[in-house]
Amino acid sequence: MKKLALHWQIIIGLVLGVLFGIVAAINHWGQFTQDWIAPFGTIFVNLLKLIAVPLVMASLVTGVASLADLTKLSRMGGKTIAIYLITTVVAICIGLILVNALQPGASIPDDVAANLQATYQEEMEQRSGDVQLVKERGPLQPLVDIVPQNIIGAAGSNRNMLQVVFFALFIGIGLILVRNERTEVVLRFFQGLNDVIIKLVDVIMLIAPIGVFALIAGTITSIAGDSLASVLELLRSLGFYALVVCLGLVLHVVIVYGGLIHFISPLSLKQFFRGISPAQLLAFSTSSSAATLPVTMECARENLGVKKEVASFVLPLGATINLDGTAMYQSIAAVFIAQALGMELDFAAQLTIVLTALLASIGAAPVPGAGLIMLVIILEAIGVPSGGVALILGVDRILDMLRTTANVTGDAMVSVLVNATETRISD
Ligand code: ASP
Repeated sequence: MKKLALHWQIIIGLVLGVLFGIVAAINHWGQFTQDWIAPFGTIFVNLLKLIAVPLVMASLVTGVASLADLTKLSRMGGKTIAIYLITTVVAICIGLILVNALQPGASIPDDVAANLQATYQEEMEQRSGDVQLVKERGPLQPLVDIVPQNIIGAAGSNRNMLQVVFFALFIGIGLILVRNERTEVVLRFFQGLNDVIIKLVDVIMLIAPIGVFALIAGTITSIAGDSLASVLELLRSLGFYALVVCLGLVLHVVIVYGGLIHFISPLSLKQFFRGISPAQLLAFSTSSSAATLPVTMECARENLGVKKEVASFVLPLGATINLDGTAMYQSIAAVFIAQALGMELDFAAQLTIVLTALLASIGAAPVPGAGLIMLVIILEAIGVPSGGVALILGVDRILDMLRTTANVTGDAMVSVLVNATETRISD
């Protein structure tokens, strides 16, 4: 019997997870689900996270070292970063146009805003340490953060993925500069490690449907608690805002990414979206571009025909700095909060949002909830009280799932574009 394609297996896990989560919330099985179902999701995500750092190391070192010289690296690097920045700015502009035109914050009555703020104040206070750290950052801190002082420390948390990327690039460059028998051994070690990890991705994906089922069921019951009524209440007040974010993400993915794939790459839209779907589904289930990275790389190489040297450079970099979905969400959220608090934002403030959302998304770690904390940078810059973040906390988890899906799709799209143009150059 023919095996069901991976994306269908994951979709089945996801749908069953949603159904189970709803039934569990209605029947007050929240605690049971957290105790007996959600841990399988955690194990699945942990496995993916476990191989993410070694994968970035092995694939980037071999990817960079396989380039004949540094000119090729700087050409590919320059192109990749330029496309990343441009698409992120476009995402922010789409977000700003939508939120200014549709005004989701204007329809929030004052008492509802005050209520939301009071409800989520406690949760915000728990995060206030992170918020304080973000507030104290100097303008060049994002640059300083890229360069680790110790690789073990950097590799110790998936939040520091960009530092691992930097270290791997650095070692790769070293391997280009020194080519002899001894460095050949180093290179072969990383190549071997890379092969092993790629195989392990296949092994982990065998349990993807179960992992996704458990993740989604766990997420739904933790959002709903034991009462679906509170979710419905939340949706009544924040539903319009959430819809504007969804609309923006869909427009960006379909029009901007779809257009670029259609006009610049040799792939059809169907090939692209079908090829990347396992990674999208996983991004949606885990809310983490870092945890999804192993699968994004596999999909790009095997389903989208991206060359190994391109995928191993473009994708780890993208997962850490190219967060279009996050940037768009941050710009919409910032204006929404201002609207709900009755504050007017002039053109200069909107321009500040473009710049700060670009920086805040680059600085956001590819892990769940990171975009929300970095939103504080934008609010501070435009003079909106950062406590306003409490207003949108209630629907953040679901929006995180959606923006992570957009983030991962954007990285894959850029890998296809860079691959197409690099192939043309080498032909
Ligand atoms: N969860 C997002 C990601 O991993 C980051 C964020 O926006 O919170 O891509």
